[in-house]
Amino acid sequence: MDAENKNLIVILGGGESGVGAAILAKSKGFDVFLSDFGNIKDENKRTLDDYEIEYEEGKHSEDKIIKAKEVVKSPGISDSISIIKIIKSNNIPVISEIEFAGRYTNAKMVCVTGSNGKTTTCMLIHHILKSAGLNVGLAGNVGKSFARQVAENNYDYYVLEISSFQLEGVFDFKADIAVVLNITPDHLDRYDYDMQCYTDAKMRILRNQKMGDSIIYWMDDPIITNEMEKLKPVSHIYPFSKRNDSHLAGYIDGNNFFIHPKDHTFSMELDLLALQGMHNVYNSMASGIVAKLLDISDDNLRKALADFKGVPHRLERVATVKGVQYVNDSKATNVNSCWYALNSMRSKVVLILGGVDKGNDYGEIEHLVKQKVRTLIFLGKDNSKLHSFFDGKFDDIVGVDNMKDAVEVAYLKAQKGDTVLLSPCCASFDLFNSYEDRGDQFKECVRNL
Ligand code: ADP
Repeated sequence: MDAENKNLIVILGGGESGVGAAILAKSKGFDVFLSDFGNIKDENKRTLDDYEIEYEEGKHSEDKIIKAKEVVKSPGISDSISIIKIIKSNNIPVISEIEFAGRYTNAKMVCVTGSNGKTTTCMLIHHILKSAGLNVGLAGNVGKSFARQVAENNYDYYVLEISSFQLEGVFDFKADIAVVLNITPDHLDRYDYDMQCYTDAKMRILRNQKMGDSIIYWMDDPIITNEMEKLKPVSHIYPFSKRNDSHLAGYIDGNNFFIHPKDHTFSMELDLLALQGMHNVYNSMASGIVAKLLDISDDNLRKALADFKGVPHRLERVATVKGVQYVNDSKATNVNSCWYALNSMRSKVVLILGGVDKGNDYGEIEHLVKQKVRTLIFLGKDNSKLHSFFDGKFDDIVGVDNMKDAVEVAYLKAQKGDTVLLSPCCASFDLFNSYEDRGDQFKECVRNL
C-alpha cells in the first residue's frame, strides 16, 4: 500500500459486519484492509482469503490504518479505544457498516431500533413482507450482514435491525420507515452511564428523514414521546399504544388490536397472534403498521401475524417436565426485557437470572418478583450485586455458578403448574460464550431432566 492511498477502506473488526463490509468494499473496487485486535474466527478468515482481502488479527497496525480514506467500524468496538482516537485525530471519517452499505442500494429501508424487541420485530416484519411476495432481505444484527447482502443480492426492500452502536456511525443513511420500539436503560456502560447519550444514539434513526418518510413509535414510552416533541420530525408519524384511542395508528380495545395508519382499519383478536405476551402485542402492532404502509392486504397480514414461528431464546417454550413448563428467554439481557417476560407469566415462576450486570436497577422487577416468583436462582460467577439487592427482600434465593446446577435446583423447587423461566437481566459472558450458548445449555439441561 502506498503512503497516501485514497482508495483504501479500512475495516475494524472481523466479525459478521466487518467481513460483510470488506466484501462489499472489495466488490466496489476499493483497496481493503481489515484489522481485528482479537482473534478472527477461522470461518471468517477463510471468507477473507476467498475474496483476497488483506487482514490482520491480534493487533491494529496504526501505520497502515491511518492511510485509509475512510474507516468502517464494527458495532462492537467502542469509540474510546486508542486506535479510534488516533484515526479521528487524523481526520479520517469513521462510519458504520450500515452507513457504508446504504450507499450501494436503492432498496426501500424499514429500520427497527429500540432497547428490546428488535430481532423479534424485524423477523416478524420480514415474515409478513416475504409471505406477501415482496423481494425483501433481513439484515443488521440478524443473520448475514447488510453489507454482504448488498454485495450479493438485489432486494427491493430491506428490514434492518439497527442497534445504538450501529446508529452512532450513521451520517447520510436514511430509513424510509423507522420503527422505534422502546428506550429503556441498556448498554449504559458504553455511554458513560448517561441515558441521554444512549437515547440520542437511538434517535439517530430519524436522521435525514424527509416528508413522505415514516416513523412508527411506541407512544406509551415517555422517553420516546419526549424525544419526538423535542425533535419535531418532518416525516409522517404513526404512534401506537395500549390505549383505546382510534386517532392512533395502532391501539387496543378489549381483546382486539386495531391498525389504521391510512384510511382503512385492520383489526385482529389478540389471542390469534402467534407471539403472546403484551410486549409482543406491541411488536405485532408495529409490524402491522409497517405492513399497511407497504400496502400488504388484510388477509396476508392476518395470516402472517398468526403463523409466525417465533425466535429462539425469546420466551421460547422448551418442554414441560412433570407439569412444570420450562421457558428459555436467554436473550433477556436487561432488566426491562425480564420485566416483560415475568409480566406475561400466568403461573408461579422459578426465575433464573444473573450474569454480567450492565448497570442494572433490579428495583424495576422487584414488585413482579414478589408477586409471581417462588424461587430466585442467581446464576453467575459473581452474584453479589443480586444478593445485595434481593437478600432480605425475598426469602427463597439460591446462588449457583453453572447451568446444570441452576436447572437442577429449579427442578427441585418448582411445583406442578409452575414455570421455570431463564430470563437473566444480564449479559452471558461470565459463564457462557453468548446468550445463544446460555440458552442452548439451558435447553440441553432441561432435556436431560
Ligand atoms: P433485541 O433484538 O432488541 O435484543 P429481541 O427481539 O431479541 O430484542 O428480544 C429480547 C428480549 O426482550 C426478549 O427476551 C423478550 O422477552 C423481550 N422483548 C421483546 N420485545 C419486547 C418489547 N417490545 N418490549 C420489551 N421487551 C421486549
